[in-house]
Amino acid sequence: MHLNATHDPALRSWVESAQAAANDFPIQNLPHGVFRRRGMQEPFRGGVAIGECIVDMAQAALLDVWAPDARAAAQAAGEATLDALMALGPVHWHRLRAELSRLLRAGAPQASRLRDALVPMFAAEHGLPARVGDYTDFLTSWHHMVNAGAVLQPGAPPLANFKWMPIAYHGRSSTVEVSGAAVHRPSGQARAPDAQEPHFGPSRRLDYELEIAVWIGPGSVRGQPIAVNAAEQHVFGLGLLNDWSARDLQGWESMPLGPFLSKNFLTTVSPWVVTLEALEPFRCALPREPGAAPELPYLRSPRADAGFDLQIEAWLHTPRSGAPGTRLSRSSFRHSHWSVAQMVAHHTVGGCCLCTGDLLGTGTQSGPGPGEQGCLLELSHGGARPIELADGERRAFLEDGDTIVLKAWGERDGAARIGFGDCRGTVRPAAG
Ligand code: CA
Repeated sequence: MHLNATHDPALRSWVESAQAAANDFPIQNLPHGVFRRRGMQEPFRGGVAIGECIVDMAQAALLDVWAPDARAAAQAAGEATLDALMALGPVHWHRLRAELSRLLRAGAPQASRLRDALVPMFAAEHGLPARVGDYTDFLTSWHHMVNAGAVLQPGAPPLANFKWMPIAYHGRSSTVEVSGAAVHRPSGQARAPDAQEPHFGPSRRLDYELEIAVWIGPGSVRGQPIAVNAAEQHVFGLGLLNDWSARDLQGWESMPLGPFLSKNFLTTVSPWVVTLEALEPFRCALPREPGAAPELPYLRSPRADAGFDLQIEAWLHTPRSGAPGTRLSRSSFRHSHWSVAQMVAHHTVGGCCLCTGDLLGTGTQSGPGPGEQGCLLELSHGGARPIELADGERRAFLEDGDTIVLKAWGERDGAARIGFGDCRGTVRPAAG
C-alpha cells in the first residue's frame, strides 16, 4: 500500500465540519463504525465518520452513486456489524475508500443526495464494530514490561522471551464493550504484601491500560499460519482499547497462568475503526535497541516501516475536576517493539486460525520518557507515588466516579491529521 489521492492533505469535503482544526475525522480518515440514533429503538447499522457527522451507510448504499466495483463493500459497510465488510479484504476496502473520498469531496455532484444520509454525531450512540469471537491481548511495549516488572517483581531481570516473540494471553470476548460502557469495580481475591491470607472484596487498585485495538479482517485456516509479509491483508484497521485492570487481584492470581478476574470484567474499545490505508502516511520503523535479538525468520518483516507513529493519550476526569481533566499518559505507538504484522504472524504460527472480527490488543503502550507510561501502575510506581492532578487532587489508582478517556491521532508534515475519536469509561462501585 502506498499513498494515493485519498491521502492528499489538500482534499476538502462538502461536509464543512470535516475541515475544523483538530477534528479527528477529515476526508483523509473515513473510519468505519456501527451506530444508531440515540434514544431510538432502531437497529444498529454501519456508518463512516466525516467531520461531526456520520454517513449512514445503510441508507447511502441504496443510492445510485457508487462505482460498480465498490457496491458490495458499500452495502457491507451498512450492516448491523462490520463483519461482512471486514471479511471482504483489502481490495474491496480500498475501492470503498476511493469512492467515499470521491463522493464526499468538495464539489462532488452527488453531495445533495448524500446529505440526506448524514446523521449528526452528537445524536448517535454506538455499538461494537464487530461480533468479537475471540480477544487476545499482547505485550509489545518494552518500556511497559520493564516498568511494570520493576513494580511487580523488583530486582528481577526483564523477561528473556520478550525480545524473541510478541507475548500474549487469551482474553475474554464476552466482556468487550464499546466506549461509554460502565466500568463496575470488580470484586475478587487479593493478598496484601504483609498478609498471610487473601481477603475478598472490591478491588482497591483499579487501573486503565492505554492500548491500540487491532481488528482482524479476513480470517485464516487452522493449520495454515499467516506469513508476516501477508499479515496486514488480514487486518481491517486499528482503534483504541482500554484493558481495565485490577492490580491487587492481578498480583495474587497471575502466577502461574496469567491474569484472570483482574482483566476479564471489562475491555473497552473505541467505536471507530481507522483502516490501515488511512494510516499509511504515519508509517515508521520499529525501534530496535542496539544488541537486540535478531528476529527469527517467521517474524522477519520485509518492510522497514512496519510500525505506526500514532500519538496516544490517556486523560482522567474526576467528579470534582470534570472537564478539562488531567492528562495522565502521552506517548506514541512508534515505541512498540513488535509490529501489528508480527503479532498476527506469531498468533497463527502454531496453527491457530484467526476469524473475522477477532480483536487483538497491543498491550499497554509506554514510551521511554517521563509521562509516557500507559497505566497508573507505572505512573504511580505501584501506588507508592500518587500523581498530583491538575486541580490538586491525588491519585494512585482510580476512584469511583473517575472517567478515563483514551485518544490517538496521526500527525505529520505533508499529511492531514487524522484521529481515532474517544474511548471512555466511568468507574462505578462494585456491583451487589
Ligand atoms: Ca493489557
